[in-house]
Amino acid sequence: MRVAVVGVQGDVEEHVEITRKAMERLGLDGEVVATRKSGVVSGSDAVILPGGESTTISKLIWRDGIAEEILELARDGRPVMGTCAGLIVLAKHGDEQVEKTRTKLLGLLDVKVKRNAFGRQRESFEAELDFKGIGRYNAVFIRAPAVEWVGEGVEVLARFEDKIVAVRQKNVIGLAFHPELTEDTRIHKFFLSLI
Ligand code: GLN
Repeated sequence: MRVAVVGVQGDVEEHVEITRKAMERLGLDGEVVATRKSGVVSGSDAVILPGGESTTISKLIWRDGIAEEILELARDGRPVMGTCAGLIVLAKHGDEQVEKTRTKLLGLLDVKVKRNAFGRQRESFEAELDFKGIGRYNAVFIRAPAVEWVGEGVEVLARFEDKIVAVRQKNVIGLAFHPELTEDTRIHKFFLSLI
């Protein structure tokens, strides 16, 4: 089994490490590879799009041919997970910030995202969520986006206050927070179980 972590920018190493740990705990044999180049995602069983800066990540994945490989992998039913900026890039619709910066989205999740949805006062915080299928989960939010609405076929996995912060559309998962910045491997285990 091979899991690719798109490594153009953002919390790449953290995702690689926690995915390895989750694999080990599940007793799965495989490798986790960070990549900045085309050719790796297409040969992988799953892909993770980390958090960072959505405009930059989008620009680089489209420039380097990684975007098309993610689309193909998803179309093939293989799992894709985007966290924070990764959620933004996976979405079909963005807010005015996304439009103003002409950030090209992948459109794999039929949702509308809002960048920096929690405002300046709450740039970064932790919150306990009730995550569908997992239970109580302590999530780390950093300049996080939120999902404003979801289309049919998109399942809401978690909310924080009145905002949607985790969604799933078949094999595609989007999280507004950073599961790679905790010691808790449950979300990565859930992701690996979709392979
Ligand atoms: N605010 C960032 C963006 O809109 C996302 C932040 C993150 O990934 N931690 O791209």
